Amino acid sequence: MSVVFLLLCNRTDFLVDTDYFMAVAVLSAQRSKDPNTQVGACLVNQDNKIVGTGHNCMPNDCEGKLPWNREGAKLDTKYIYVCHAELNAIVNASANADVKGCTMYVTLFPCNECAKLIIQAGLKEVVYLCDKYHSPQKIETTLALPVKCCGVFSPVQFIVNVNSKVFIVFHNVNTDPWIETGVKCFLVFLKSTISSLVFATLSCR
Ligand SMILES: [Zn+2]
Repeated sequence: MSVVFLLLCNRTDFLVDTDYFMAVAVLSAQRSKDPNTQVGACLVNQDNKIVGTGHNCMPNDCEGKLPWNREGAKLDTKYIYVCHAELNAIVNASANADVKGCTMYVTLFPCNECAKLIIQAGLKEVVYLCDKYHSPQKIETTLALPVKCCGVFSPVQFIVNVNSKVFIVFHNVNTDPWIETGVKCFLVFLKSTISSLVFATLSCR
């Protein structure tokens, strides 16, 4: 089998690890029932394996019984009830895996409570997608603890690759990619073989 054949048959448009992990966080956010803010988190261990995911939701068995309001009396708002995506990812992972040393991919910059949880759980890195609630005051409360005071970790903003896109169209998943790939590879092999034969013929003249 020629080297050209092997090289041409390799996929180059595969999803790189970091994009995959953030995509899982984005997908997890889609599970949230919060009408205003959907957040997702994906926890990855040191072997580059996903060990937990989470999204912002109400506590177990409370979904549909507690408010998602952002304004009103304290007990009528979501803030005192909602479990953040970071918390859920850590709890979900802890059931089956050690989260120490893990990296968290999260769609929104962690709040103060989650920052403390992340530190206590022993995570080594946080990669966030956006910080839409950024404010100087928040930097004092959220960043102060991990970065300024303890130096435990420094949250890293995810670098968006403009060429990286993920589309999931469920009714397309049933097509057999191996058959398509096989046909493509055969055609490439045929083309390279014919080219080699033509080159060899011309060289012999
Ligand atoms: Zn939080």
